[in-house]
Amino acid sequence: MLIDSHCHLDNYEDLPEVLARAHQAGLGKLLAIGIGDGPETMHRALELAHAHSERTPEIWASAGIHPQEAHRASPEAMARLATLAQDPRCLAIGEIGLDYYHLDNPEIPVQQSAFIAQMRIAAEVGKPIIIHCRTSELATPAAKAKFAAVDAWEDLLRLIREHWTSTGLPGIMHCFSGNQQQAERSLAAGFYLSFAGNVTYPKSTVIQAVAASAPSDRILVETDAPFLAPIPLRGKTNEPAFVTHTAQFVSALRGISAAQLADSTTSNFGALFPASISVSQRV
Ligand SMILES: [Zn+2]
Repeated sequence: MLIDSHCHLDNYEDLPEVLARAHQAGLGKLLAIGIGDGPETMHRALELAHAHSERTPEIWASAGIHPQEAHRASPEAMARLATLAQDPRCLAIGEIGLDYYHLDNPEIPVQQSAFIAQMRIAAEVGKPIIIHCRTSELATPAAKAKFAAVDAWEDLLRLIREHWTSTGLPGIMHCFSGNQQQAERSLAAGFYLSFAGNVTYPKSTVIQAVAASAPSDRILVETDAPFLAPIPLRGKTNEPAFVTHTAQFVSALRGISAAQLADSTTSNFGALFPASISVSQRV
């Protein structure tokens, strides 16, 4: 069994076919990210999860306010999130974090306070967080001017240290795109590294080096569908079934079989989210 640990399912017009293809490709579970198109639709992934709980692939969900929507983290939105977070099919809070890439993103203090408030909600319900971290390294000159003085990774790891580490709870660095040092610090903070389609791109040599060497009990694979389709499907609309290509690529980097990688990423997902393992599968 393979698990897509991060996909956005809200906007497929042909979702039944997408899920059928995921099933055919051997996927047993999906984690649908509940950020919606903004806070007012962050419940949609959970609705899908409930509707698809008895079928394969099982859909599990998260809920959260993306850093690009941080200016909309009103008290009402946070209250709704706190309620969604208690849903048994909600495994995690996310994706949350920092995005210093787009010029029109909310100001840094706005992003940081939404991130901190959501870590608090996750801590209250005792569930992991799913992190989105995007630096300004490759941003436009104007966005660089707005955000470049600060390093998103430094800010992120500091906020995690100040507001999360004491909970003892784990988390996921989604679409991990940092360097070796950021990977090591993330692992030391108790996080799992989730690799997406961009690990297959020829220029991603730094991410590939991390994917080759990260501890086998701390890695996951994901699509981030509908974005970031892996090679050989790069440029197409991504979908959960395509996680097989990313898993194949990462297993080759690590010199193990695709089946071994599927086994370890599936057991890592279960370790992170025991609630996702049915009683009959638990040992
Ligand atoms: Zn995402």
